[in-house]
Amino acid sequence: MRLEILGCSGGVGGERRTMALALEQHVLIDAGSGVGDLSLERMAAIEHVFLTHSHLDHTAFLPLLCDATLDLRDGPLTVHALPETIATLKECMFNFKLWLDYSVLPSPDKPYIVFEPVAIGQTVRIGACGITPLPAKHAVPAVGYRLDSGSASVVYSGDTTLCDAFWEALDVMESLTCLIIESTFLNRNAEGARISGHMTPELLATALRRLRCNVAIYIAHMEPGKEAETMREIDEVADTFRPVMLKRGDVLEF
Ligand SMILES: [Zn+2]
Ligand SMILES: [Zn+2]
Repeated sequence: MRLEILGCSGGVGGERRTMALALEQHVLIDAGSGVGDLSLERMAAIEHVFLTHSHLDHTAFLPLLCDATLDLRDGPLTVHALPETIATLKECMFNFKLWLDYSVLPSPDKPYIVFEPVAIGQTVRIGACGITPLPAKHAVPAVGYRLDSGSASVVYSGDTTLCDAFWEALDVMESLTCLIIESTFLNRNAEGARISGHMTPELLATALRRLRCNVAIYIAHMEPGKEAETMREIDEVADTFRPVMLKRGDVLEF
């Protein structure tokens, strides 16, 4: 199974794109600005979008993705997210003010977008892949996702600060081979991380001490312009792990 990194930055500027991961041809995990680099044909092939939470760096390109491919689709785009995330998108984005309400257009019985609520631990099967929401702890309701090909699993944390339930879920995941974990703030901004629900290198080190050692660690969602300093702080505390910076264009096979 193929996971292509379309965007993995905590912000924009230059080559940076915000969170969007393409799983095979038909599934997107988060819909940040990385989506905008896909060809129209690849956008039209996306049938399912799984959102970690409502923040714009993960959702801003959802209406634009749908809009660009309205005439190219046979069926609706299915958007999977927590009920709270769906409510926020309906209230604040698809409200006929910020954008048209694609969940009732062109008609309520045949809309452009269908929202599907997800729940922690309840796997959604898309083709051969099992996609399971994992607990997260962020400023708004949020999940991470386990992507399970049957023989291996990749976990993407989404946005979260240190969340015991998330790391406990990894502990019992036999097939886990790869973890994409956010590490947004530098250590000196521990208070900002606490308030906004993000990780720092020190929080990451605390979490890694309980993780099995044969897992590849990829760091995502760093602050724009602070990537090198963040990776230096992570390298100082990562112990036997050798985390690497996730990059736009990376492809993870699992
Ligand atoms: Zn967020
Ligand atoms: Zn974010």
